[in-house]
Amino acid sequence: MPKGIRIGLILPDVLGTYGDDGNALVLRQRARMRGVAAEIERITLNDDVPADCDVYTLGGGEDSAQVIAAARLAASPGLQAAVADGRPVFAVCAGMQVLGHTFTAHGETVEGIGLIDATTTPMSARAIGEVASTPSHAGVTAELTEPLTGFENHMGGTLLGPDASPLAKITRGVGNVAGSAVEGVVQGSVVATYMHGPALARNPQLADLLLARALGMRLSELEPLELPVIDRLRMERLAG
Ligand code: GLN
Repeated sequence: MPKGIRIGLILPDVLGTYGDDGNALVLRQRARMRGVAAEIERITLNDDVPADCDVYTLGGGEDSAQVIAAARLAASPGLQAAVADGRPVFAVCAGMQVLGHTFTAHGETVEGIGLIDATTTPMSARAIGEVASTPSHAGVTAELTEPLTGFENHMGGTLLGPDASPLAKITRGVGNVAGSAVEGVVQGSVVATYMHGPALARNPQLADLLLARALGMRLSELEPLELPVIDRLRMERLAG
C-alpha cells in the first residue's frame, strides 16, 4: 500500500457553501483509520491547481461562485491533466455542473471545463430534499452495491450526453433533472452527484471506492471499517 495520499480540495473558498468540504475530511479519516497517511491540500483561488493529487473533491456553491470556479479551473488546468491521467475526482452539485460543457448562471450560459458530457439549464422549480438511489454500476462504480443517500438542493437540471453515464437510479427525490429518474454522473475517473450530506459521510462505500482508487486498489481489496454510528445514520436516512 502507498505510504500516503494527497487529497486535493478544489476551491473551498468558492465551492464551500454546502458543507461538502466534509468529503475530503471523510477520505482523510478513512485513510488514516487504515494506517494510511493522508493530507488535504486546500487549492484556493490563489493557487495553481496541481495535477498530481491522488484524489480530488469539489463541492457545491451559489451560481456566482461557480462562475468564478469555472473560470479559475479553465485558467489553471491541473484538474483536466489529472483526469487525463485517470486520477479520481468526486464533484458535488455546483462542482458537477462546472465540470460539464455549459451551465446557466444569472440567465447567461457559462462554459464549464468539459470533463463530463453534461449540460445544465434551470429547472422550473428548485429540487430540495432527501434523495436516495440505487447504484447503476457504470464504469468505475461497478463495485458499488449499497443504496446511496444524500440531500439535494439545486435549481440547475443536468442532462447527460452519450459519453456520460448516471451514477444511480432515483428511488426518492429528483436527481439530475425533473423526470430523468437518474442521479449523478460517471465518466472516466470522474464521479459526480447532486448529493450533499456530505455525501461521503452518508455513503461510506462510495468514500472507500474513491479511496481505493486513490491508492491504486480495488474496493474489495480495502480492509473494511466497522463504524456502527455510520450504519445507524444510514438506517435512519434510508428509512426516510
Ligand atoms: N447553484 C447551483 C444550482 O442551484 C448549484 C447549487 C448547489 O451547489 N447546491 O443548481
